[in-house]
Order: sequence, then C-alpha cells, then structure tokens
Amino acid sequence: MDTAAEAGSAGTGASARLDFDAIVIGAGVTGLYQLYKLRELGVRVRAFEAGSRVGGTWYWNRYPGARFDSESWTYGYAFSRELLNEWDWSEHFAPQPETERYLNFVADKFDLRRDIQFNTRVTAAHYREDTRNWEITLHDGSRRTTRFLVTAIGILSAPVMPNIPGVESFKGQSCHTHNWPKETVSFAGKRVGIIGTGATAVQIIQTIAKTVGHLTIFQRTPNWCAPLNNSRISTEEMRGIRARYGEILARCRETPGCYVHSTDPRSTLNTTPEERTAFWEKRYASPGFGFWQGNFQDMLTDRAANALASEFIANKIRSRVHDPVVAEKLIPKDHGVGMRRQPLETGYYEVYNQPNVELVDVRETPIERVTAAGIQTSAKAHDFDIIIYATGFDAITGTFDRMDIRGVNGLRLKEVWANGPQTYLGVFVQGFPNLLMAMGPHAGLGNYTRCAEYSVEWVTGVIQYATQRGLTRVAATAEGVREWTDYVLGLGQGQLMNETGSWMTGVNRNLEGKQTPRIMRYSGGHPAYREHCDAVAAAGYPRLALA
Ligand code: NAP
Repeated sequence: MDTAAEAGSAGTGASARLDFDAIVIGAGVTGLYQLYKLRELGVRVRAFEAGSRVGGTWYWNRYPGARFDSESWTYGYAFSRELLNEWDWSEHFAPQPETERYLNFVADKFDLRRDIQFNTRVTAAHYREDTRNWEITLHDGSRRTTRFLVTAIGILSAPVMPNIPGVESFKGQSCHTHNWPKETVSFAGKRVGIIGTGATAVQIIQTIAKTVGHLTIFQRTPNWCAPLNNSRISTEEMRGIRARYGEILARCRETPGCYVHSTDPRSTLNTTPEERTAFWEKRYASPGFGFWQGNFQDMLTDRAANALASEFIANKIRSRVHDPVVAEKLIPKDHGVGMRRQPLETGYYEVYNQPNVELVDVRETPIERVTAAGIQTSAKAHDFDIIIYATGFDAITGTFDRMDIRGVNGLRLKEVWANGPQTYLGVFVQGFPNLLMAMGPHAGLGNYTRCAEYSVEWVTGVIQYATQRGLTRVAATAEGVREWTDYVLGLGQGQLMNETGSWMTGVNRNLEGKQTPRIMRYSGGHPAYREHCDAVAAAGYPRLALA
C-alpha cells in the first residue's frame, strides 16, 4: 500500500481499499493532462513514468535537431487560457529543449509532480475480476491496485534497434535516437555513421552535418521530404498569435488532422499543369505540413494525382542535389509523396553536396554486420567513432506489447491484437474492463496535443460517469468492438497511406509479424471522430457494459 495513496482525498467508497481510483501510465503530453483532469474530478490518482522527468517523447528524444513539425502555437495545451497567456514560443517550430521546458512549466504550474512517480516503468497490468480492479507491477517488482487504468503511453515510445548482427560489438559511442544521452555529444571532427532516413534521421543529419568530420548515411528507403520553412517568433508576433488563439484553435478543430493546414477542394487533374505547379510552389515555400496536409483533396487517394505531386518533389530533389546519381537515390521509388508521414527539413538535401558526406544505399550494398570498428557492408568496411541508430519504433501497439497486460481470465492483450488492434473508439478493448487508452490505436490521430486533449477529456468523462454512479466495471461489448473495428477498417480503405509500409501502418521491417501494412488509426478526420465519440457520451455510452 502506498502511503501517499492512504493520505489520498475524495475517492469513491467502492474503491477505498484499492491504492488508487485511477492510475495513469506515462507523464508525457497525454499523461500530464490526464493526471490534471482526473485530479480535478477528485479521484485518487497517481501517474507512473519511466523517465526521470515529465515530457514523454519530448523527454526521451533529445537528439540534435529534434523539433516540432506542427506549428508550436497549435501544439500547446488549449485547456487553460492562463497557460496560453503565460507561454511564449520562440520559433514557429520549436526545438526539443523548448518543448521539454514547456512541459515542465505545465507540470510546475499545475503542481502535477506530486502525483507522479518517476523512474518507474510499469512492466505488467493484470485485471482481477473478483474485485474489479487492476493490479500493476512496477519494474522493482512492487505492485499497486487501482479501479481504472489509463494508458497514456504515446504511439512512438518503443524504440527498435535494427536486426543487424554485431550491434553490441561496436567499441565507439552508439545509441538509438530515442535514448539519446543527456550530456552533449560532440561531433566535431568525428567519423559518424547513421542508419535510417526517417523524420528523426533527417533532423539529425541536417544538424550534425555542420560540424561532423565525416558522415556516412545508410539509407534503405528514401522519404519525400519538404522544407519546414521555420522562423523565429518576435515578441510582437507572439502577441498577435496570442490574440488569435481562439481563431487558431477553432481552425485546428475544423481540419481533419487538427493542423492549421487543410486540403484544397480541387482535384489535381482538373487543374492545368501551370495552375498546379504554381500551387505546389506556394505549398513548398510555406511553413510546415502545407504540402502534405494542404494539397489537392485527391493527392492521397488518387494514384495519378499522387504521381504528379511526387514528380514535383522529385524535381526539387534533383535541383538541390548536385550529383545526379545521389539525387536519384534520394527519390523514393516504392511509394508516393505523403503516403508516409512527410519529414520536414531545413537544408537536408544540400547536406549531400558536402564533400565529407557519403550516401550508402543498403539495398545495393547491404549492411552485413556491425563490427568493433564500424559497419561492414557487402562492398566495404566503414570505420566510425559514433554510430547513430535512427531506426524507428514499434509504433502504436508496441508499447502495449512490451507490458504484460492481461484482462479477464488472463487474456493477453498482445494475443488479442496479434492480427491488428481491435478497439471500441480507440479507447476500450473487449475483455479488458476498466482499461482506458488515451490516444489508443484506431482513435483519431493528427496534431498530437490537439488530439490528446480530446482523448483525455473523453476518457475522463467515462470515469466521471462511472464514479458518479458508483459503477465499478466499465467494459467494451463484443458488438461495440466489432462495429468500431469494422468501421475503422472500412474507412481506411482506398487511402494510399494505409497501403504503404510505415510506422503509421504498423510496419517495422526489423520485427517479425510487422511486415504488412495494417489500418492502425481512424482515418475519417478528427472532427468526425469527435462527433462520433461525443454522440456516444451524450447517449450514456450505449455500447459499453456498465455495472
Ligand atoms: P521511421 O520513420 O520509422 O524511420 C526509421 C528509419 O530507419 C527508416 O528510414 C528505416 O528504413 C530505417 N531502418 C530501420 N531499420 C533499418 C535497417 N535494419 N537497415 C537500414 N535502415 C533501417 O522513424 P523516425 O525517423 O524515428 O520517425 C518516426 C516518426 O516520429 C515520424 O514519422 C514522425 O511522426 C515522428 N517524428 C516527428 C518529428 C517532428 O518533427 N516532430 C521528428 C522525428 C520524428 P525503412 O523505411 O526502409 O524501414
């Protein structure tokens, strides 16, 4: 029994003998707000966080160059006008240290730390039907009980190392980008190898290329990157943003991905070549996700339209990279623009014009092993001082899979989801009563904080509904899960993003069973997702079994 819990306030009578009424796993963007909202309800709540501080993604991913790809002023929490008034963003796309500072500021402002246990990884969570509660196990073997268990574990929190032999044998410095050390790493004069060319790698490459001695980039699949077009925010500009917060947030509520960008209603092929080139030039020169989220409405559903947009970007790459052989290698051939989440860059392609930068296409010359001195490909040995693994994540369901989560009769979540997630509204799973997933699979996904705030508020609504009525068991029904899962899978049909291998479709080529794209998220746009969930709440949660 936890002493802080014993001292806890309010609580429902029914769960008085449990350590907590609610446990939140994670103290990142979602977990912090979930803790705030549950505390507001007056229930006894505790968050458990593996890191030593708050921030989640923005705590772990402290690699050089890490920054937003959503506009900073659309990413902050909107629930507190006071908070919006007190925080100034320094850049339109803030760097990681600033976001980490912001989340610490939020934790301080709302005194959240007193209910967070840091340096504590949850390794297991088992449901007990006789007492209708969850028992979680922490990495030190100790246990805590709770009525409701809320996961706020993010979608990109389970890093994956490449399945290349010899990774442990390298004698220099190496790490996965997600586990970047807190101490500054100097690249000056160093021979550096980096595996991966996703959004993370793009940010690191363009940053360390400025000081590195020699940089070798091991690329398996190139991505369609577009310029971030970042800039600083002056005091006066910030004042203007603050005055327009109402309008900005309203706009984010209207767009499918909760960004300020939204698609152009025209069809690509109904425009003249001149019209669309002018349109794309404008998008390419504008800040943020304009090219991806603000393109013609058919770019991500019509292959012919997509091919034209892809060719536009291909020509940009050709114009920016001097060596035509290297340029061709940097142009994706197996998927079109926007079919994977588009990495945003600042001078990324120009890095390949530096004499001290080498691109290794591992499809031509595969990596055979990591050695004590570096990386051996089928063509040659590359010696390094530092190897960076920017090799991505077991996304969306991976963090769930890494915990031993068991529901009714010992049912294992990992097995239930062996062929892909099955959920009700992305929040509940059949056979796992009182488990609520904030930002779970098959929920609406986009500009993260915008979506997380909604998810947290909806989850809180369910817990409030239950606690006010003395309900101790909130469970998804078979029909609810079947209907929602079928609906989400149906909605995702015909969307090119769902047909392409990427973390967004649950593909990780280093992992067995994760080679084929699956529909992992609700793809009907966040406004429709909210409408659906709001209607469910207004009707008293008809597809949940409440007892
Ligand atoms: P990722 O997009 O999954 O990229 C992983 C990279 O590693 C891919 O290029 C992959 O190649 C490569 N790779 C993995 N194993 C390999 C191997 N054995 N040999 C060679 N290459 C290998 O992961 P990420 O770059 O970390 O980005 C994930 C997501 O995080 C982004 O899409 C974005 O949503 C988010 N993110 C956001 C920002 C931001 O701006 N806010 C920044 C960074 C990341 P294949 O493609 O061939 O598998």
